[in-house]
Amino acid sequence: MPAFDQLDVDNRRVLVRVDFNVPLRGHGDAREVADDTRIRAALPTLRALLDRDARLIVCSHLGRPKGRYAEDLSMGPVAGRLAELLERPVRLPDEVVGDGVTKLVNDTRAGEVVLLENLRFEPGEEANDLDFARALAKLCDAYVNDAFGASHRAHASVVGVPQLVRDHAPGLLMSAELQALGRLVEGIEHPFVAVVGGAKVSDKLGVLVALTERLSAGDAIVIGGAMANTFLLARGRELGGSLVERDLLGACKRVFDKASARDVRVILPVDLRCGSGLDAREATIVAVGDGVAGDSLALDIGPRSEASFAGVIATAKTVFWNGPMGVFENPAFAQGTLAMANAVAECPGYTLVGGGDSVAALNASGRAGDIDHVSTGGGASLEFIEGRELPGVTALAAAH
Ligand code: AMP
Repeated sequence: MPAFDQLDVDNRRVLVRVDFNVPLRGHGDAREVADDTRIRAALPTLRALLDRDARLIVCSHLGRPKGRYAEDLSMGPVAGRLAELLERPVRLPDEVVGDGVTKLVNDTRAGEVVLLENLRFEPGEEANDLDFARALAKLCDAYVNDAFGASHRAHASVVGVPQLVRDHAPGLLMSAELQALGRLVEGIEHPFVAVVGGAKVSDKLGVLVALTERLSAGDAIVIGGAMANTFLLARGRELGGSLVERDLLGACKRVFDKASARDVRVILPVDLRCGSGLDAREATIVAVGDGVAGDSLALDIGPRSEASFAGVIATAKTVFWNGPMGVFENPAFAQGTLAMANAVAECPGYTLVGGGDSVAALNASGRAGDIDHVSTGGGASLEFIEGRELPGVTALAAAH
C-alpha cells in the first residue's frame, strides 16, 4: 500500500474521504452532531495534512438520502463541529460537485478546508458511476481514504476515485484499523476469546464461522444477546417468547460441531434476565436449565453468566468483542453489556472492540480508554475479520 507520509501534499488539493456518517439530533437549523466520535477519529489525518500545507477537501456520506438532496441530511452540522475541532473555518458548498464547487476548491489555499456536501446526494456515489468519480477526481491532485467504515462498499468516492488519481494513500485511521483488525486474521495470539452479541445470528454467522476456523484448542467463542437464544434453542432449551431465528438452528449446530472438532469452547449464558417486553421495567433472573416460561422474553444475560463470561475473558491473550449482551438501551437490561465492557477493559491481553452498541456501552461505562483498539467501522470490521476483501482497501493497494 502507498505510504501516507510519502504522499506529496504540499500546496496541493488533497481529497480526503472520511466517514462522518454521525448521528444527528434536532431539526432544521437546530440540528447538531449527537456523537462526534467519527469526526474526532479522522482528526489525526486531517491535522497531519494541514501541517504539511495541504489544501484540504474533505468528503463523506451522511445517512441515506438515496441520490437526492435532503435538507435534513446536509453536512451543515458536521461542518460546524469539524470547524470547532480543527479550530479553523470549514467552507461548505451547497452541492457535491459542479462549477461552484470547482471554483471554491481551486481558490482554496494551503491550510484551508472545504467539506463537500453529502456524497449520497449524488446517485453516482452508490452506483460507483465513472462520470461522478471523474468529477470528484478533477477536484484534487492527491487522494486519501480514511473512511475505513465505508470501505466495504464499492462506491465512487471509495473505489472509483483512487483508480483515477495516481497519488493516493490510506489515512492514519485507515492504517490503524487495518493493522489492529489484521491481528485477528493472521498471527492471532492465543488464547483468543471472541465475544459476540446483538440481535441476529444471521448478521454474524459469517464472522462466527470464519473465526471458528481460525481458533484452536483453548480458545473460546462467548455468545450473548438475542443471538444466544437461538444457540440455546439449538441445545434444546426453552426460550418462551424470546427473539429466536428458527431457520438458523442448523447453522448453530454446525458452529457447535466445527468448534468441538477444534477443541474450541462455545460459551453460552447459564442464566438470563427476562421481562414481559422490550420496555419492561423489571428483570426476573431465570436459570437456563429451568427454561424461560410462557411468553416471557430473555432480554439480557444473568449475573452468573456475567461472571462466567468475565472469567473466560480474563484469561485471554486476544479479545474481540462485537454486539450487546441484551437490550442495553433499556437500563433494566443493560447490566450484562456493561459487565462485558468492564471485563474486556480489565483483560491484560490485546483487546479490540467494534460495533456501535458495544462502543456506546464502553463509553457509558467510561472504559473506552482501557481498550487497545476501538474500531470505528461496524460492518466493515466484521467483513474484514471474515476474510472478505474490502473494495476500498483493494482499490488503494492497486498500482497505477
Ligand atoms: P446488532 O445490531 O446485531 O449488534 O444488535 C443490536 C440490538 O440487539 C440492540 O438494539 C439490542 O437491543 C438488541 N438485542 C440484544 N439482545 C437482545 C435480546 N435478548 N432480545 C431482543 N433484542 C436484543
